[in-house]
Amino acid sequence: KLHNTILELKGNIRVFCRVRPLLPDYGSSGEGKVISYPTSMEALGRGIDLVQSGQKHSFTFDKVFMAEASQEDVFEEISQLVQSALDGYKVCIFAYGQTGSGKTYTMMGKPGQPEQKGLIPRSLQQIFQTRQSLLSQGWKYEMQVSMLEIYNETIRDLLSTNRSSLDLLRSENGIGGKQYTIKHDANGNTHVSDLTIVDVRSAREVSYLLERAAQSRSVGKTQMNEQSSRSHFVFTLRISGVNESTEQQVQGVLNLIDLAGSERLSKSGSTGDRLKETQSINKSLSSLSDVIFALAKKEDHVPFRNSKLTYLLQPCLGGDSKTLMFVNISPELSSAGESLCSLRFASRVN
Ligand code: ADP
Ligand code: MG
Repeated sequence: KLHNTILELKGNIRVFCRVRPLLPDYGSSGEGKVISYPTSMEALGRGIDLVQSGQKHSFTFDKVFMAEASQEDVFEEISQLVQSALDGYKVCIFAYGQTGSGKTYTMMGKPGQPEQKGLIPRSLQQIFQTRQSLLSQGWKYEMQVSMLEIYNETIRDLLSTNRSSLDLLRSENGIGGKQYTIKHDANGNTHVSDLTIVDVRSAREVSYLLERAAQSRSVGKTQMNEQSSRSHFVFTLRISGVNESTEQQVQGVLNLIDLAGSERLSKSGSTGDRLKETQSINKSLSSLSDVIFALAKKEDHVPFRNSKLTYLLQPCLGGDSKTLMFVNISPELSSAGESLCSLRFASRVN
């Protein structure tokens, strides 16, 4: 029996596990689920058991959400973290897990189902509401949004108004195109050359941009035969606030990241482009794990430069920034192997 815990990972890093329900179209095969709450009462709400081939694997996280947890329940647990971006913190929230485990549901929700909206729209709603209520205390905030995708270690601007997929093609083929070079300045601000940054005044404006980004992703999908599950989606909200009476200033950043699917592709089946994709996903996900682990252990050397994703987010991962990782889990027996990998990834055993 394995007992793994991430609870020694203190500081500003939290890991939440979320198990999605069995999907309605799934019932017919009747294989049932392999995920349950642990029997020990003290682990309730924080523990999770996975039984595979008669063997029980137990894990403990900062929080576990089982199938019955609503989007609202989940948001309740993170709203303070989101709020801290308005207080000048740099915040990163990741969704990690195999394709189909509920990452996009957790981040964005279900299209056309307002009560099932995910943490990106909920966060924006809260931030803009709070901004409004802080006006009376003299706080004036400015917000900027950027959205990008990292595919095969290449950045793609999702808000660029034209030819973004052509840019992808060009940079893939190494014949020019935009470079999207990442630079960090002395104040801990990240600059990505050529990246579109949009001033936003309301949650509605951001929703509009999110829709545009989704379109831009799907255009790339057909043209490049790319699937969104093979790329990382990075939503960034930069917040700068000034208090007009006290002259206090704050600069916060909220990064919300829907990671590429963590599933291992069978080695024999991956060749050419698919192999390259798999290698770059593996590289960036393991780099992310290395970085978070090094930060949690307060190691002197944190290997930010090993992938585009970790380098891009460097100022928002170290220092007094706050990081939350959702590990999304599919409950079905057929996913047991991948689920075990995800749980181990999150508790950093592998
Ligand atoms: P991923 O982004 O990890 O590939 P999705 O978020 O697309 O996975 O989820 C796969 C399917 O499961 C979608 O149809 C989604 O709406 C549904 N789903 C995921 N999580 C939940 C949940 N907690 N409650 C209800 N449906 C969910
Ligand atoms: Mg998805």
